[in-house]
Amino acid sequence: MVELTDVTKTYPGGVRAVRGVSLDIEYGEAVAVVGRSGSGKSSLLNLIGTLDRPTSGQVRIGGHDVAALSDRQLSGLRAATIGFVFQQFHLTPGVSVRTAVADGLLYSSVAARQRLRRADAALERVGLGHRLHHRPHELSGGERQRVAIARALIGDPPLLLADEPTGNLDSASGETVLGLLTELNAAGTTVVVITHDRELAARLRRRVEVSDGLIVRDEREPGVVPFAARIGAAR
Ligand code: ADP
Ligand code: MG
Repeated sequence: MVELTDVTKTYPGGVRAVRGVSLDIEYGEAVAVVGRSGSGKSSLLNLIGTLDRPTSGQVRIGGHDVAALSDRQLSGLRAATIGFVFQQFHLTPGVSVRTAVADGLLYSSVAARQRLRRADAALERVGLGHRLHHRPHELSGGERQRVAIARALIGDPPLLLADEPTGNLDSASGETVLGLLTELNAAGTTVVVITHDRELAARLRRRVEVSDGLIVRDEREPGVVPFAARIGAAR
């Protein structure tokens, strides 16, 4: 699903946020990305999500070399392949939950009516079938995060990326969101989650630790067949 080879990211101004990462993520894996604030986790996730291009090295998503794609092809790949869940999910005030989720398909070829139907199904899937016509201010933080997940999964992407999806939630809402990610993974979605929450990380089958722009640890649950993983800059 994801193949990073000797990937680096240096921001203008010279911050070397990712300093040589090689990482393979197989279809169907559930990966926690852990590490201190500023270690490069979000930068790494943005590269995996093709929201950003690497300074050097190769990013392959679903077998496609990102560098070989035009911006337009890349948007297409992203729309068809990747769902994003961010910590601070922006919901437009006054726009109903149903519309917000349906808009996740705005740049696809799905017709308007069908988009709404898919939105209802996605909201049903995250347990918000009874909140279709609510506005953002009428929802709890946990419910809003579930809307974000519904929007991310409406296109049924094989890869779901989440950056601190439980960071702003109480433990009960966090539990619900984690349960949802686990369920999606069980249904076949490859899930990559950045988290500060050690407990959450411990419940995913694979944990990748990032420190100072490098992968310093990559561990899998015992009993889970290890796939070829290439750690750090060496290959
Ligand atoms: P994390 O998600 O682990 O907290 P980030 O990937 O956000 O880490 O940041 C890694 C480093 O890159 C930090 O030093 C941060 O200040 C820097 N950084 C992140 N984004 C940018 C950017 N757009 N421009 C310049 N520096 C950035
Ligand atoms: Mg971050």
